[in-house]
Amino acid sequence: MRFDIISVLPGLLESPFAHSILQRAQKKGIAEIVVHNLRDYASNKQKSVDDYPYGGGSGMVMGIEPFAKCIEALKKEREYDEVIFMSPDGETLNQNIANELSIRKNVIILCGHYKGIDQRIRDIFVTREISIGDYVLSGGELPAAVLVDAIVRLIPGVLNDETSALSDSFQGDLLDAPVYTRPADWNGHKVPDILLSGHEAKINEWRYEQALARTKKRRPDLLAD
Ligand code: SAH
Repeated sequence: MRFDIISVLPGLLESPFAHSILQRAQKKGIAEIVVHNLRDYASNKQKSVDDYPYGGGSGMVMGIEPFAKCIEALKKEREYDEVIFMSPDGETLNQNIANELSIRKNVIILCGHYKGIDQRIRDIFVTREISIGDYVLSGGELPAAVLVDAIVRLIPGVLNDETSALSDSFQGDLLDAPVYTRPADWNGHKVPDILLSGHEAKINEWRYEQALARTKKRRPDLLAD
């Protein structure tokens, strides 16, 4: 799967993609993540990508021209399944959306800044708008990194243990069960006996019960529908 991320601060996206699972996915050739500097598509001398808002008011607005040029250049190279704009007023990201997007081939992700981007970019080019939660960040880069991480770890071959993602919270209707590792006894704080029993069926049953109890307590809304 290929991600083309358009950003005015590409440096913000270097580290999230250079470690761990996201790095491995790129090395294995399963995910390709390309960050484009929006300023490279600005035609004015100062390479500025924002301007004052029509109608007045506070904050700057990112203009249509650089985004349009970059998106059009990318679309000449390949077909895109989605052009996603990271935006607090978009649909809230969840595991279903991540699952759905993990079977796409090519997506473009736009990162906003300042007051946001000219509405015409959204009307003309954007096919989907995604928020990572009901709060406002200063730019779309961290949200884009969150979205890419949530998607890439679901692509077959990325995680070493495929079944691990299946038992994660939200993958079914349940939160994940508690997990433990060595030592079995830390200053009198013991790991539940069942996990040391070696009895796989009973362990699975215990995990299911724990997951169910945790979901009932913390997220009853997940069980409602
Ligand atoms: N004025 C806008 C917020 C702009 S914040 C509004 O009130 O809706 C600047 C940019 O940061 C946004 O354009 C978006 O790309 C990004 N951003 C901020 N919060 C976000 C969130 N919760 N989810 C996704 N993107 C977000």
